[in-house]
Amino acid sequence: MVAWLMYLGDGPKRVGGGYDDNPSTHYSWDSKVPNHAYVRVGDTIVLWDGDTLLGLSVIEDIATGTGTKDCSSCPSCGKADIAARKTMTPKYRCWTKTCKAEFDSPTVETVSVVTYRARYEAGWIDLRGHVDGKELRDLCEETTSQNALRRLRWDDFRTRVETGKNATPLDIIDKTRKVIAGGHTTRTVRARNGQAAFRSTLLEDFGEVCAFTGPMPAVVLEAAHLYSYAANGKHHTFGGLLLRRDVHRLFDLGQIAIDPSTLTLDVTAGTRKYPDYGKLHGQALTVPVTKAHKKWIAEHWDMHRTTNTIPGQSTKPPAAAVMGLAP
Ligand SMILES: [Zn+2]
Repeated sequence: MVAWLMYLGDGPKRVGGGYDDNPSTHYSWDSKVPNHAYVRVGDTIVLWDGDTLLGLSVIEDIATGTGTKDCSSCPSCGKADIAARKTMTPKYRCWTKTCKAEFDSPTVETVSVVTYRARYEAGWIDLRGHVDGKELRDLCEETTSQNALRRLRWDDFRTRVETGKNATPLDIIDKTRKVIAGGHTTRTVRARNGQAAFRSTLLEDFGEVCAFTGPMPAVVLEAAHLYSYAANGKHHTFGGLLLRRDVHRLFDLGQIAIDPSTLTLDVTAGTRKYPDYGKLHGQALTVPVTKAHKKWIAEHWDMHRTTNTIPGQSTKPPAAAVMGLAP
């Protein structure tokens, strides 16, 4: 099980970088970044911004391409380990221990690179602020690494997230890996930038009503975008539901599911202990659903309530064979 801590943000670690900015869906890097070629489909990606954890997911696919990149380096030693300074002059300093030159402008060279773009929106769990930057650094295999792509000690990271402050279960990551390996997954996706129109449509269709808890002010309602991701890389949209923020999160994590035979809510025993969620157990949906919704609801159910079964994929060869993973 390989997990990567990937850095998203601005600062000295991204000198020369041109990176995408939507943390919940995709992340790009290029062949100038150490470890660039070792990231695989099925690996876990954990994003941080230098100060805090942002969230995590499982990589669904990696698109490679070619491009060019302006690389800045130290005019004295030629190394790329340089940083602009905020107030001091000369503006740049080389951080290479044996050099430490100071200079006004770096050497800039345009080089050809291989580009990589990982997509992972199906399994995204937002955990912004749950673990601070220092703890994350300490959970890496090399705790003093400055690389944008670092190997994380997954078991230790997982223990920290599942049992420490703001404890959150991560078994959904295992399930997502299994389903991606089987070539098929169905997940909800949070409304993202640019999906405001989608949410507006749902508000028009359903009114200010959470599908689990009933009438709610629009400000607390999120669009759960229902779609299936198949091995051919196509997203099949099955519509959406409006869910109150907290129950949306529990639904994403499988702590609330919808029994497809009765269209009633099924709350896990652990979550049922909380009275507000316990009383949802066995309740019917508060809104009418379509045939397309029902198909998706059944797949969500199979994923979260059926042990070790991938819907319709039970005869697939093992994950490693499908994905060509290194042992
Ligand atoms: Zn230098």
